[in-house]
Amino acid sequence: MKSPDNDSARRQPFRFGRRLFLAATGCAPVASLLAADPPRPVTQASVPDDPAAPKEQVGTVPPSSPFDEPLIFARKDLTPRVKPFSLTQVRLLPGPFLSAQEANQALLRRQDADRLLHTFRINAGLPSSAKPLGGWEKPDSELRGHFAGHYLSGCALMYAATGDPQLKSKADYLVTELGKCQDRLGNGYLSAFPLLLFDRLRARQRVWAPFYTYHKILAGMLDAHQLCGNQAALQIARGMADWVDHWTAALTPEQMQTVLDEEFGGMNEVLYNLSAITSLPRYASVGDRFTKKRFFNPLALRRDQLRGIHTNTHIPQVMGAARRYELTSDMRFHDVADAFWRQVVDTRTYVSGGTSNNEGWLTEPNHLAQELSLRRETNECCCAYNMMKLARALFTWSGDSRIFDYYERNLYNHRLGTIDLTNGHTQYFLTLGAGSWRTFSAEEDSFWCCSGTGVEEFSKLADSIYFHDGNGVWVNLFIPSELEWEERHVRIRQTTGFPAEARTTLEIITESPQQFALKLRIPSWVSGPASISINGKASEVSADAGSYLVVHRSWRRGDRVELSLPMGLHVEAMPDDPSLQAFLYGPVVLASRLDTVKLPDSLVVGFQAPDLKKQPPPDIPPLRAEHADVRRWDRASRNALDFEVPGDRRLTFVPFNSIGPGERYSIYWKVV
Ligand SMILES: [Zn+2]
Repeated sequence: MKSPDNDSARRQPFRFGRRLFLAATGCAPVASLLAADPPRPVTQASVPDDPAAPKEQVGTVPPSSPFDEPLIFARKDLTPRVKPFSLTQVRLLPGPFLSAQEANQALLRRQDADRLLHTFRINAGLPSSAKPLGGWEKPDSELRGHFAGHYLSGCALMYAATGDPQLKSKADYLVTELGKCQDRLGNGYLSAFPLLLFDRLRARQRVWAPFYTYHKILAGMLDAHQLCGNQAALQIARGMADWVDHWTAALTPEQMQTVLDEEFGGMNEVLYNLSAITSLPRYASVGDRFTKKRFFNPLALRRDQLRGIHTNTHIPQVMGAARRYELTSDMRFHDVADAFWRQVVDTRTYVSGGTSNNEGWLTEPNHLAQELSLRRETNECCCAYNMMKLARALFTWSGDSRIFDYYERNLYNHRLGTIDLTNGHTQYFLTLGAGSWRTFSAEEDSFWCCSGTGVEEFSKLADSIYFHDGNGVWVNLFIPSELEWEERHVRIRQTTGFPAEARTTLEIITESPQQFALKLRIPSWVSGPASISINGKASEVSADAGSYLVVHRSWRRGDRVELSLPMGLHVEAMPDDPSLQAFLYGPVVLASRLDTVKLPDSLVVGFQAPDLKKQPPPDIPPLRAEHADVRRWDRASRNALDFEVPGDRRLTFVPFNSIGPGERYSIYWKVV
């Protein structure tokens, strides 16, 4: 999330975004200012003139522009290959994911709803004596109210995932009280800031992303409706969308395109969702107004023109494209989502599964080593969250197991370690530079974008473990959990110590025999043939890495399937510097702790990224090639994923996600 430079004393020093800068220095439309930029060949790497202020690239004019034609929304639903189970059907069992969920659940319970409502009530002219929140929620922050939307989604998701009645009550209370604010404001508008911010947006004056915040509240209302059954939330959402219709209808299409140069979250997606829920196409037509042609046109033509653009401004737009494809089967939107996915995952993703640097893409594709050398603020957590949502959508179209290779990489190496289990606080950037350390939000003085996606993320860890189709259950992740497949009167209980143990066990619980297929994902990283046994007897069924192993039979109560997934150490080098290498065991990225002493909270809490200047530069000599030869490494203990590197330098590698707050680490190593 791009923040203005006057926002927070603890803000990191780099922030002054390209578009905000332009708006502040004369309000000229971005496109016209950049139109003189020469087109840049996409395959040739070059360093931006000023990495701190990457140029937003217009690029070459496509020979045809699929999104320049007026869009007409016509519902024609896509038939997905696989469908997700609802969150209410899956429960996590003890393990690291349940621990993360519980830390977030406690955080959601601690939040005071009246404090979240304070700025909404003030804006609506209603009394409030609550103590204002700080950080991005403080009363003069232009993003105020965004966290309430995330919080509503987080409570609704957590209620679905756990049945926690306390969080349902808090969500219902928020909906009721926000409804009073909406009634008072009139015209359906609901926000914690006045319409003045939208006036400035229309005039292209300096403003901090009002539609971004509006989207969070609208999405929170839909989640409260769909997951908590709150009918009033749907009516509030419709009122909010009616106001958006009114506001956007007053603009010419050209004016609207300039408005879309300011970050607007997933306004297109949430309006498509509202259209699907209400069966009213007009909301989708309003969603179509949020089609940023300058971004979608090259994607539809499968051109990578991502260099220089702000990452998390654009991922939610692609999720909107994916949703519109699902509702209309319009291939233009499919191509946008598919091309974007491939560009980011194949050429712009670090070993951790995350993407972005300084919140943008600073280089041409496949220049990650160069990008890492430019800035240390890699891997914004919001980007990982949104890319995983996109992955989930794409998977339902194809059932391609490789999408879950990506998802799993992100889940274990980016997401799992970014929550502090002692308090539920989460990270902003997951920095990959050598000598970095994890920094976390403060309880009352952060409320960053990533704090918002964090309370959603860690409420829905159960949502992609299992999928289903007409024939059976797809098992994508190896996480201790229990699936209640009510439609088939079957429960499946998965128990595993994965990834510390390279296997998982599935137990079928059913009153009477049930015929269905069990489709087990065989990850691309397996180091040998995967195998299964059923009720202790080895099965001859096999499958290649990067596919599904399918067992179709009549299942009886107590049937047990054991899946073995051989794991090994392997190396992943940077595409533009083969000597810069990271080490993995199966899907798990390994890191080396650089110190035995943790840094104090004064360097950890409330910082979006580590301030490396406050510590001596790390002393990390290059790794000699024989030490980087993972065939020579020893496993430090039987039950943990710790490895020792033999030789004169005593190095130990551990799972990156086990590195705690304030511990300095190294991920990528120079190998000579
Ligand atoms: Zn963020």
